Amino acid sequence: MTKTAGIIGGGIGGLAAAIALHKSGWQVTVHERQTTTPAVGTALGMWPAALRALDELGVGDRVREQGVPQRAGELRRPDGRRIVAMDMDRMERRLGDRIHLISRPALLTILREAAAEVCDLRFGTAVEGPELLQDLVVAADGVFSRTREDLFGEKARYAGSTAWRGTLDFPTETFAEIWGAGVKFGVTPQEGGRTNWFASAGAPEGDFHPGAELAALHEIFGGWRDPAVARVLGAIREDGILRHDIYVTPKLPSYLSGNVVLIGDAAHAMTPDLGRGACEALIDAVSLGKDGAIGYDQDRRRTTQRLARMAGAAAWMTRQRHAVPLRNAVLRAAL
Ligand SMILES: Cc1cc2nc3c(=O)[nH]c(=O)nc-3n(C[C@H](O)[C@H](O)[C@H](O)COP(=O)(O)OP(=O)(O)OC[C@H]3O[C@@H](n4cnc5c(N)ncnc54)[C@H](O)[C@@H]3O)c2cc1C
Repeated sequence: MTKTAGIIGGGIGGLAAAIALHKSGWQVTVHERQTTTPAVGTALGMWPAALRALDELGVGDRVREQGVPQRAGELRRPDGRRIVAMDMDRMERRLGDRIHLISRPALLTILREAAAEVCDLRFGTAVEGPELLQDLVVAADGVFSRTREDLFGEKARYAGSTAWRGTLDFPTETFAEIWGAGVKFGVTPQEGGRTNWFASAGAPEGDFHPGAELAALHEIFGGWRDPAVARVLGAIREDGILRHDIYVTPKLPSYLSGNVVLIGDAAHAMTPDLGRGACEALIDAVSLGKDGAIGYDQDRRRTTQRLARMAGAAAWMTRQRHAVPLRNAVLRAAL
């Protein structure tokens, strides 16, 4: 008899898991509480290992075609001087591919279209707990996973920093992060001739400024002379700003409980400083399809928890307000 899998969450991890499980012979239903895939969203960096996972799902080339390959990468000071440049050619030789930037809506659309061909996708259905009557339940319900709370009693924890993000209607060739004292600003291209930007800073939890986020950005970054920051900051409009506090998943003793398996941010949400969360959700999905729930837990828990620690360390470095020259020297040596 065909085994059945129910997936809670039709985000990046849930849709990818649906395709991966179908490939291994499962009959899959995805329950997503949103009614539609978001129409706007900022860029995600897809690392080579994630592109290989997308290849396994049969959509890697679509992501490469629609995305923007990362040709350069720099860390800069607020005055525009370079701290360090990344050698992307060397990275490609070492890792076998380039990082590709693709917007969240574009990636979700590609995954959704592929999943729709092989699974039962039920958008607009919120699941209240892991009570689905299926052989396997996959909780891909994100950093605020209700399933994780029910099974492990672990709520998401505030990471101490907040992020502003957005996209702008003009192209850029800049791939840079500009690091100040305790804050940073990033600029990259996005598909469709757009510019993707993001900023982060340490802040108390929930300290939002409705209607005045742009003023907050100007207060922090307004004095920076880096030309990319000045250009982007001058073009941002209040209604184009996405603002989120950053939360992480506490380290779990297992990603598996009975017939319920946690993947993606539900299992290991990390700070976005390495740009790896979505990548790891995709790799989780492929591992789950190939190795089964026990093999996935063994294969992926240690790796993802190590990455989460490294991302936390990178976030800590960003937040340092003192000894900035020392921090920059460490970055130069590390990169
Ligand atoms: C500022 C920022 C920048 C980032 N940049 C990058 C990057 O460059 N590269 C990268 O790889 N990652 C990046 N990430 C991380 C990435 O966004 C996440 O790791 C990724 O979205 C996790 O995917 P997921 O499917 O596990 O969870 P989510 O994307 O959160 O999806 C969970 C889904 O579950 C649904 N859901 C929740 N509860 C229920 C329920 N009860 N019933 C039904 N549906 C439910 C939600 O509606 C949602 O669609 C970034 C994150 C942030 C915050």
